[in-house]
Amino acid sequence: MARVHIVGAGIAGLACAVRLLRQGHAVHVYEAAAHAGGRCRSYHDAKLDRVIDNGNHLLLAANHAALAYTDEIGARQTLQGPPHAAFPFMDLHSGERWTVRPNGGPLPWWLLLPHRRIPHTRPGAYLAGLRLAFAGPDDTVADCLNRDDPLWERFWEPLTVAALNTAPEEASARLLWLVVRATFARGEAACRPLIARHGLAASFVDPALATLRAGGAEIGFNRRLRAIAFAGDQAQSLDFGDSQVDIADGDRLVLAVPPTVAATLLPDLEAPQEMRPIVNAHIRLPGRPALPPGLSDDLPLIGLIGGAAQWLIVRDDVVSLTVSAAAGLADESGNDLANRLWGDAAAALGLNPADVPPIRVVKERRATFAQTPQALRRRPPARTRWRNLLLAGDWTDTGYPATIESAVRSGWAAARACAKSR
Ligand SMILES: Cc1cc2nc3c(=O)[nH]c(=O)nc-3n(C[C@H](O)[C@H](O)[C@H](O)COP(=O)(O)OP(=O)(O)OC[C@H]3O[C@@H](n4cnc5c(N)ncnc54)[C@H](O)[C@@H]3O)c2cc1C
Repeated sequence: MARVHIVGAGIAGLACAVRLLRQGHAVHVYEAAAHAGGRCRSYHDAKLDRVIDNGNHLLLAANHAALAYTDEIGARQTLQGPPHAAFPFMDLHSGERWTVRPNGGPLPWWLLLPHRRIPHTRPGAYLAGLRLAFAGPDDTVADCLNRDDPLWERFWEPLTVAALNTAPEEASARLLWLVVRATFARGEAACRPLIARHGLAASFVDPALATLRAGGAEIGFNRRLRAIAFAGDQAQSLDFGDSQVDIADGDRLVLAVPPTVAATLLPDLEAPQEMRPIVNAHIRLPGRPALPPGLSDDLPLIGLIGGAAQWLIVRDDVVSLTVSAAAGLADESGNDLANRLWGDAAAALGLNPADVPPIRVVKERRATFAQTPQALRRRPPARTRWRNLLLAGDWTDTGYPATIESAVRSGWAAARACAKSR
């Protein structure tokens, strides 16, 4: 029976594998690490004695593919979020707190109500965001919007950094417009935030592995693909160092590895190569902290303005802070980062900054590719010039920012292409 070989058990590889298995294909997954999940994983941290995620991950209700993937693997109920979109914020300089509450339906009347929008901002400043809709292919977010308006620091900059993990001075305006169009422009139902209640593995990884195993898929860990041998227009065999796997006639190969790895395996591949870091700090408090005003048990999350971190999530007694587009910080020592981010957490939660609890800093230096106009032009489609070789990964040309949504869509695109090319 023809097989599909999937290299990489991140979300793209898992989504592809689950789809193909459901369609009756024989699936083999090869993963370099000792675990699945890639950039979206959980593990036990000995210092905190807690299971932590490599970094906070946020979904929005508009992430239809990501949510459908959790349906496919039976994990939708592991996501939690509020019944209506509401984003609490705090300005760490002024101590001011507010909650952004978009309204239902496409007409954004919430902008007219001072208590629903960001303090010190004018409705016209939000509408100026429509300039993103007319951005050219080379425009950055900063090219299109007014950096002197208070909305810049309190909305556009944090939104760009959170959605694209790229500073607005270099981030693609067109890609940010896609995010705005799919979320805020569709009303609050599309903006509802969701997080993984028990961590990333429980929502996105373990149920996928269970589905694959139950369906008879073969999953090999500690199997790092070193090279691919080609014959004519086909991939012929996979070299894992200590073993080799032949790709038989009719078999398909899906490379679902990060772009930097794909470029070493396929030297003439055109793909984004510049990556941007995300830094997270996980802080174990002596007990669950009291949630400050605006936060709820449905979504114990707050956006931070004016600190190092951009947002914070409380999960039981662990508080996790995220710094996206962290190029300026990723080279700081773990200790310096821990102190800096604990300062943000203490201010946001009203805790004594002198009582420093155990803190784990996780630096993901290659969290996503830099989502610049130039890099977007280098995103390849699923199909390659080799008849039996497909690409998947959040960096491929899904049209979406490099997120779980993009990873799932890329996995599905590769699965479709596998089925078609038989
Ligand atoms: C800290 C952080 C925060 C994030 N926050 C969010 C968020 O809030 N919302 C959101 O939607 N997304 C977020 N993302 C992005 C999201 O995690 C990624 O888009 C997604 O996980 C990418 O999945 P992937 O399968 O494309 O790639 P990867 O996860 O990189 O998977 C590739 C897999 O291939 C394996 N591999 C590599 N080389 C080889 C080899 N030679 N042989 C075999 N296997 C190999 C790797 O070990 C890995 O498991 C965040 C990412 C990070 C790091």
